[in-house]
Amino acid sequence: MSEAPPSRRVRVAVEAPQHSGLTGPLDYLGPQDLTPGTLVHVTLGRRDVMGLVWDDLAEGQDLPEDERLPESELRPVGEALDALPPLSDRWRRLVEFAASYYQRSIGELALAVLPPQLRDLDAKQLQARLKKLDKADAAAATQAAAAPITPADRPALTAQQQAALDAVLELAGREAPQPALLWGLTGSGKTEIYLRAAEAALERGQQVLVLVPEINLTPQLEARFAERFAGHAIVSLHSGLTPAQRLRHWLAAHLGRAQLVLGTRLAVFASMPRLGLIVVDEEHDPSYKQQDGARYSARDLAVYRGHLEKVPVLLGSATPSLESWQHALGGRYRRIDLTERIGGGALPRVRLFDMNRLERKKGVTTTLSVPLLDALRKRLDRGEQSLVFLNRRGYAPVLHCDQCNWKSDCPHCSAHQVFHKEDRTLRCHHCGVSARVPRACPSCGNPDIAPLGRGTERLEEQLALALPGARVARIDADTTKLKGSLESQLAAVHEGDVDILVGTQMVAKGHDFRRITLVAAVNPDGALFSSDFRAPERLFSLLMQAGGRAGRDAAQAAASEMWVQTWYPEHALYQSLQKHDYEAFASSQLHERMSANLPPFAHLALVRAEGRSVEAARDFLTAAQEAAQALPLSLGLLLYPPVPMAVARVADSERFQMLIEAGSRAQLQRFLRAWLPELHALKRRQKGLTRWAVDVDPLAI
Ligand code: ADP
Ligand code: ZN
Ligand code: ZN
Repeated sequence: MSEAPPSRRVRVAVEAPQHSGLTGPLDYLGPQDLTPGTLVHVTLGRRDVMGLVWDDLAEGQDLPEDERLPESELRPVGEALDALPPLSDRWRRLVEFAASYYQRSIGELALAVLPPQLRDLDAKQLQARLKKLDKADAAAATQAAAAPITPADRPALTAQQQAALDAVLELAGREAPQPALLWGLTGSGKTEIYLRAAEAALERGQQVLVLVPEINLTPQLEARFAERFAGHAIVSLHSGLTPAQRLRHWLAAHLGRAQLVLGTRLAVFASMPRLGLIVVDEEHDPSYKQQDGARYSARDLAVYRGHLEKVPVLLGSATPSLESWQHALGGRYRRIDLTERIGGGALPRVRLFDMNRLERKKGVTTTLSVPLLDALRKRLDRGEQSLVFLNRRGYAPVLHCDQCNWKSDCPHCSAHQVFHKEDRTLRCHHCGVSARVPRACPSCGNPDIAPLGRGTERLEEQLALALPGARVARIDADTTKLKGSLESQLAAVHEGDVDILVGTQMVAKGHDFRRITLVAAVNPDGALFSSDFRAPERLFSLLMQAGGRAGRDAAQAAASEMWVQTWYPEHALYQSLQKHDYEAFASSQLHERMSANLPPFAHLALVRAEGRSVEAARDFLTAAQEAAQALPLSLGLLLYPPVPMAVARVADSERFQMLIEAGSRAQLQRFLRAWLPELHALKRRQKGLTRWAVDVDPLAI
C-alpha cells in the first residue's frame, strides 16, 4: 500500500459572509501540491461548499498565530476541480483588493463573482462541461477561422480619431500604462476608437474586456463588435444570461478562448489570462456601482485591474464623472479628446423654455406648452421623430382627494403609491406592493379622487390627445418587462413606425436613433434642489445624453433641437447645457465640491442601518458613532450624526444612515478596518436591528 501523500495547511476562501465574523480564508489540510487558485470542495459547518485555494498569506486578513487551529484539528479539503486551470495570481489580487477596499470577506466576494453554476459542480461534471465546450469549439473552428480585418472593413479615421488612437496605442506600448479618459461627444466616434484599440490588442494575441453600464446596451455593442470582428470569439457576461450560458461564457474567457468579453459591471471580475485592454464605456454611469452585497464600483476596479495587469484602461464618456475628470486635470489619467461629431453632425440647438413666461390658466396643463406642441407638430408634418423625456414612470406620482386631503400613501413606506392607469393599480416603487385603485376616497368617500402630477404614462396619453394622428409610443421599465419587448419597441422606432417616443432615462442612453430631430425634457428641475450632491451631475449627463439622441444624422443636424422646460433658465447647469459646455459645468461643480469638501476632494463612507423600529436603527448608529469616537484612528475624520434616509421607511423597515468623511482614502480605509469589527459586535447586541451595511464611495447620499 502506498503512503498517503504528504499534506500541509491550506488556506481556502469560502463563502462565509463577513458578519459571521470569519473574514479571511479558512485553514484546511490539503495535499502539498495544491495550487492557489484551484477550486476545491470543503466542509463548512456541516455543509459541503465550494472553496477557492488561496495564497499562504493574504495580507492583513490572517488570524493571529494563537487563534489558528493546530494542524491536527484541521479538516481535510475534499475533491479538487483541477481540470480547470487555476484562477491567476492577478485575479486573486484583484479580488483581495476589492474585498479589502469595500470591506467584505475575500471568500464571499471571490465566490460571488464566479458563475453560480460553477459552485455546484463536482470534478466529473466539470470535466463533462469542459469536454462539451471543446467539442463546440472544434465544430466552430472547422467553419469560421477568423478573417483578418482589412481596411475595407472599417471607416478611415478622421484626423482627430487618428490622434486619439495613436495616443491609446502609445499607452498600450508602455511598461505600466496610465489610464486614459476618452472624452468625446455622443457620435464623435468613441466606439470606433474602442474597436481599433481592441483590434490592436487582438493582433498581439491578447484578450479585450469591454464594460457597458446597462444590460440593454450589450446587444447593440455586441452587434457592432461582432460585425467588425467576424469569426472572432466574442462572449457577453451579464445577469440576463441563463446560468448555463453564464458558465459557458465565463469558461470561454477563463480558458483564454474568448477574445472579446463584453459585459456589465460583474464582468470586471471575468477571469482573462491574456487581458490586454479594458474599455469602460459611459464611465460616468451610476450603474457601474453595485448597490448591494459588496458595493463595488466596476469603473474603479477596472482602473485598479489595469494597474495590476499593466494594461491600458480606456474610460469613455461625453460627460465624465467628476472623479475621473479631476484625475485627468491632475494628470493621473491621460485625457484624449474628440470634439467633433462624425460626418459634420451637430449637437442640437438647446432652447431653454422659461416656464415663468407661460400664461397660466386654471385647469390648463402647462407641461405640454403650446410652443412645445407646435414644435412637435412641425416634426410630424416633416415626417421626423421626436423624443419626449420625463424621468418618472407611471401615470401620476400620487392620487389625491381634495375634499379631505387624502393621498395614496404606501402603508409600508414613507412614500406615495404611484397611480398606474393601464391596469388601474396603485403601486409602490419602493417596496413593490400593489393595490387596486379605490372607487372613492378611502377616507371620506368622495368619488372624485384625482391624479396629481404626471408620469410617462400620462404624458403619452396627453400627447396622443393633443396631436391626433401622431403615433406615440412609450418606453420605460413598465413597457419593457417582457423579455425581448425593449428590442421590438426600439426596432419600431428605428423603422420609423413611431412619431413621438416618450420615455424615461432608459431611452436617453446609448441608442443610435437616426430620425430624431427634437428632444424635449419636460420637467427636469427636480434634481437642481436634491439633497444628493451628485444629482446635478447626473442631470447634466442625462440631458447631454438625451440631447445626443438628436441630430446623429448629419442631413438633419441643422434642424435638430433640444427643448428644456424649466422654471430656472438662468441656472448655471442649464446655461452650460445650452452651450454644450461640459468643461464649464465640471469646473463650476468642482469648485462647489471643493468648497464644501465633497468628493473628489474628500472620501466618504456611508453606514446604513435598518430596523423594526426607528429606535433600533438609530440607536445602533449612535452606538456605532460612540465606538468610532473612542478610536484614535477617527481623529481628523468627520463623523456626521445618524439621520433618517431620504425615504425613511421601506417595507416597514426604518432606515437610518451615517456619513463618514475623510481627507484621504488611506485614512478612511484604516479607520474602517478598525471600526467595522466593533459594528459586527454591536449588531449582535442591538435588538430589532435587521440589517446594516457599509458603502465605501457611496454614489447616492
Ligand atoms: P460615439 O461612440 O462617440 O457615440 P460612434 O463611434 O458610435 O460614436 O460613431 C458615431 C457614428 O459614426 C457611428 O455610426 C459610426 O459607425 C460612425 N463613424 C465613426 N467613425 C467614423 C469614421 N471615421 N468615418 C465614418 N463614420 C464613422
Ligand atoms: Zn377624501
Ligand atoms: Zn411601499
